[in-house]
Amino acid sequence: MTEARTRGLVGGPRPRWLPAQLVGLRSETRTARTLDFDVPGWPGHLAGQHVDVRLTAADGYSAQRAYSIAEPVDDEKISITVQQVGEGEVSPYLVEDMELGDQLEVRGPIGGWFVWSPSAEAPVEQPILLVGGGSGVVPLMAMVRERARLHSRAPFRLVYSVRDPAQVMYADELERRAKDDGVLVDVLHTRQAPAGSERPPGRITTDDLATPSTWPTGVAPRAYVCGPTGFVEHTIGLLLGLGFTNKTIRAERFGPSGS
Ligand SMILES: Cc1cc2nc3c(=O)[nH]c(=O)nc-3n(C[C@H](O)[C@H](O)[C@H](O)COP(=O)(O)OP(=O)(O)OC[C@H]3O[C@@H](n4cnc5c(N)ncnc54)[C@H](O)[C@@H]3O)c2cc1C
Repeated sequence: MTEARTRGLVGGPRPRWLPAQLVGLRSETRTARTLDFDVPGWPGHLAGQHVDVRLTAADGYSAQRAYSIAEPVDDEKISITVQQVGEGEVSPYLVEDMELGDQLEVRGPIGGWFVWSPSAEAPVEQPILLVGGGSGVVPLMAMVRERARLHSRAPFRLVYSVRDPAQVMYADELERRAKDDGVLVDVLHTRQAPAGSERPPGRITTDDLATPSTWPTGVAPRAYVCGPTGFVEHTIGLLLGLGFTNKTIRAERFGPSGS
């Protein structure tokens, strides 16, 4: 791992702002989209890290927010997936208005704890439980993609909680990752489940997080939990009840941020 890639992991100097040009766009749902940026000078990142995004108006007013990086490292490119928040200041611009060729600034990578890498301290075989609520799936998807990129066979399970089927981001890819890459994927619905679903809609429960019978018993799994603060706190409580500990749970909360 180069010195640059460890930035954000070791609490070194805060990364500087870099200009980023929008070069790709994909709708994920009616209210979320993925934005790909070219960022000359980008130092690289690890799956799970995030960036600060800064928008500056002609009169000099600026606003910044944090967004998880959705894809594994790829030269000087980064992708983010943004869920539009009603009445929000920044997310509606990113989801509805920003056009190819437009620029903003990014600073990163940021975050050294909420990362997954088979070359870090975790052994490759350590089973990984990913639990995401809403847009909290974004850094977890980066981990799923990193696992595929590195041809890792670490047992991975993603439990993804959404309000209803229309809110599922990366739906086709998740199906493919389950079929081709052996990632166990469970989508839970809190308000409205698809027709024929065996699980009634509702909050995530202990049963939803039970360890798969196929996982090795000799290695304690690690959990990554991400989403709104209430979702994260509730899930951590369930995981502690299942025998996870503060050492085997890593969490990231997507509350309001920046200004
Ligand atoms: C480390 C980190 C990573 C993040 N990664 C992502 C990501 O990958 N994708 C993504 O879509 N968002 C992510 N967020 C959330 C993001 O930073 C913004 O908070 C979000 O886009 C809302 O910004 P806004 O300017 O549109 O809303 P604001 O103008 O900040 O807020 C408008 C209203 O919405 C409420 N609000 C703010 N943020 C949220 C939220 N996250 N959920 C519900 N209500 C909210 C506010 O309390 C306020 O009432 C992340 C946050 C953190 C801290």
